[in-house]
Amino acid sequence: MVDFSNVEDRKKFRHTASHIMAQAVKRLWPDTKLAIGPAIDDGFYYDFDREEPFSEDDLKKIEEEMKKIVKENLPLEYYELPREEARKFMEEKGEIYKVQLIDDLPDEATISFYKQGDFTDLCKGPHVESTGEIKAFKLTSIAGAYWRGDSKNKMLQRIYGTAFPDKAQLKEHLDKIEEAKKRDHNKLGRELEYFTTVDYIGQGLPIILPKGAKTVQLMQRWIEDLEASRGCQLTKTPYFAKRDLYKISGHWDHYRDGMFVMGDKADQDDETKECFALRPMTCPFQYQVFLNRQRSYRDLPMRLTETSTLFRNEDSGEMHGLIRVRQFTISEGHYILRPDQLESEFKECLDLAKYCLDTVGLLEDCTFRFSQWDPANPKNKYEGTKEQWDLAQETMGRILDDLGVEYEIGIDEAAFYGPKLDIQYKNVFGKEDTLVTIQIDMLLAKSYGMEYVDADGEKKTPYIIHRTSLGCYERTLAYLIEKYAGWLPVWMAYEQARVIPVSDAHLDYAYEVRDQLKKQGFRVEVDDRNEKMGKKIREATKEKIQYLLVVGDQEVSDRSVAVRARFEEDLGTMSLDDFAAHLKKVVDDKVKPVV
Ligand SMILES: [Zn+2]
Ligand SMILES: [Zn+2]
Repeated sequence: MVDFSNVEDRKKFRHTASHIMAQAVKRLWPDTKLAIGPAIDDGFYYDFDREEPFSEDDLKKIEEEMKKIVKENLPLEYYELPREEARKFMEEKGEIYKVQLIDDLPDEATISFYKQGDFTDLCKGPHVESTGEIKAFKLTSIAGAYWRGDSKNKMLQRIYGTAFPDKAQLKEHLDKIEEAKKRDHNKLGRELEYFTTVDYIGQGLPIILPKGAKTVQLMQRWIEDLEASRGCQLTKTPYFAKRDLYKISGHWDHYRDGMFVMGDKADQDDETKECFALRPMTCPFQYQVFLNRQRSYRDLPMRLTETSTLFRNEDSGEMHGLIRVRQFTISEGHYILRPDQLESEFKECLDLAKYCLDTVGLLEDCTFRFSQWDPANPKNKYEGTKEQWDLAQETMGRILDDLGVEYEIGIDEAAFYGPKLDIQYKNVFGKEDTLVTIQIDMLLAKSYGMEYVDADGEKKTPYIIHRTSLGCYERTLAYLIEKYAGWLPVWMAYEQARVIPVSDAHLDYAYEVRDQLKKQGFRVEVDDRNEKMGKKIREATKEKIQYLLVVGDQEVSDRSVAVRARFEEDLGTMSLDDFAAHLKKVVDDKVKPVV
């Protein structure tokens, strides 16, 4: 029996399920070619090469066939073959992808197979004893996936599934996914009209609609003011620059694939031609602010910040709603400092980020990752020497330990110029991305010739902290939609309250309530359509408006509103002034709804 609380056992179990799925597919459509089929976090997948696209109906057929295979209770048998025989075996089956996988194995590798009845797969295992153990499974979705994840290769069809030791656990898991789907910002955010995407504009280039734009604007104003109050200076720098700039920074050598380089590809390396690229980060632009005149130790720390739009050329397969995008806006800061200020400034950056994330309610679900370089990385992804990296990482490790930050270590996750503290967040489906990052950089200042005159009259090279305070506005908005199921905190909501007149006779008063509240800076509308009150209330609820102000005869005569508040005990009927005071407090305190 597998112990399902153990990750390795769970993987073994689900990897067996992926073999059963592949066997079923081969039985149903023998011409299908097999690529790879690993277990993943909450299930498994297999990539297939088949002319016809798989349909939802096909998934049902596959599931039926899988049930038969489970019933047949086939033992999984392990065996090895010498390279040539292994190759020949897969070649004869026409499994071209398996042949490539064999060819990629290093000379000394053991080439092993698992056989279950009429099905054999190239596989190093491990597996459970027999197919009969896979009692409960479900195929969940179909997606496109490039062979080896490379967009130059053929697009294959990936079928996702999940498997559990019994039906009850499977059901619990599927129910959780259903709940997550309801909160998925990529669905809910579109339904609520926060954003949309347009095919002919491009993937990863969302159109932020008025509702989303208002929320982003409110977050941005808050962050800019907050940063100013913490000693940051705002800059405004170009969105693109000549290749020369990125050559100094190292982006040209280490990050060119991730950049949108303008003009002819052939001209990119032609020094006689001018070549521009959109910025993937603000650092090298902001350094020019420091370089604008000579600096002394008294000028430091210099805390520069910018509400910065950035462009990153990621694979279209990676795009996801507002979370993975090709253009985004972020509050990006670069703190230029003396080495003796590193600790206190790092602390300040972490404090700022935690404050921001806590205020919007995301901090409680965040985890911390200390992202380090990989000294063995063969691709030469990193600048600097081992000594420099050791110093930067030791310093950062010490600061994190002093602050009592609990973190995981991420090897090969560092920036090319230094280690990072990444604050990670998971979307509703459990996929993790970085929300906020704070990085220590002891290298780049030197490349740009940045120096300050120290107290002893000597010229010295400063350290730099690269930091964000909230996370890019698009991604943060996505996580907020998911966290609150669309009920954003009132202070950042597009429409904070809606006035609903009982009948046309109460319209004039309804407008008056709206105008009074608007004058005080609140975002309020009237539903003046000729519809039943019940319908208006249902629709406002669907639109996630937290305060509904119903006005009828009584309210008109005593100048009050009957308040329906989504997340508070019945407030009942209040005078308009009392309601305004209440709303002001909710906004000022940035109250988080408990959804
Ligand atoms: Zn396998
Ligand atoms: Zn930077």
